[in-house]
Amino acid sequence: MSFPRTIRHPGIRHSSFRSRLLLWPLLILGAAAEPLPKDFTPPPAVLEAQVADEGRKVWNTRFFRLDSDMPLRAAELARLSQVADSTATVLRSYPLPLFAPPAQRSRISIYKEGEDYVKAGGFHGTAGFYFARRGVVLLRGDFFVEGADKGMPPHYHEDIMAHEVVHLCMHKVNRKLPQWLVEGIAEYFSCAHLGGGRYSFSDIDNSLRNHLRSRLSPKDPGIPLEPVAGIATLDGHEWLEHVTTIANEDRYQAYATALLLAHYYLHGGEERLATLRTALAAEKPADLIAPADGPKIQQSMSKYWKSRGLTLEFNAEK
Ligand SMILES: [Zn+2]
Repeated sequence: MSFPRTIRHPGIRHSSFRSRLLLWPLLILGAAAEPLPKDFTPPPAVLEAQVADEGRKVWNTRFFRLDSDMPLRAAELARLSQVADSTATVLRSYPLPLFAPPAQRSRISIYKEGEDYVKAGGFHGTAGFYFARRGVVLLRGDFFVEGADKGMPPHYHEDIMAHEVVHLCMHKVNRKLPQWLVEGIAEYFSCAHLGGGRYSFSDIDNSLRNHLRSRLSPKDPGIPLEPVAGIATLDGHEWLEHVTTIANEDRYQAYATALLLAHYYLHGGEERLATLRTALAAEKPADLIAPADGPKIQQSMSKYWKSRGLTLEFNAEK
């Protein structure tokens, strides 16, 4: 789930993504390897028009079946397909087994009216939603197409789409992970997205800092956050219940905490990466963080980010 918020991103960098593909298996073996591709520029959009389905226009992209009950201009369509396809490509290339979509061609559905969006399963008050039970991403047309980025920085709506597409592409592994990690990974890719399906992982700490400050405190290094112990053991259902009890303007704090925790695991050395691999390979879901360890992790994250321009301010536990 994503909520409209403001967001800013650093500049765009270009380099060859494909040429690095072969290097990653080697990098994984290295103890302190930087596992990510540095940059990704999407190839031209793929859009193959299909037979309309119950009045909905349908296209096949590289990875997805995109359908809409509203007309889409060629440029809009190309951009949506590029954001979706490049998100899938980057996730599939990530050196952890995160890519596990529900179908060979998973669905992304656009609804012109908010009412129809909610009827299809979209969570009330959101602009985009991954509906796990049906394995589909739902997007609100009035936000994504007609009113895209009105009053928001460029490509803000695309970052939300990237977040939801990550959920969709992780469909078969989401249930193995605590929800903070599911949300944190989705937000992590959203941070690295530069717009139009371009990705940069070359300075992820800087991307995270800019992402969090633009969303939570543009003029202040202080970042308000949820206590780790409070979200450590929530499953998907409990997470949704939890965030809907938070005032709309403070809701992103839960996602910010999840993002920083995901970063703590993805960039915290081999031992933490190994913990993630074990969780992803396990049959049953496991809690990675015991609530009792929350304060220690908060301390460690605060120390790390202090020297990188963020002052983490964890709310007191209720
Ligand atoms: Zn989400």
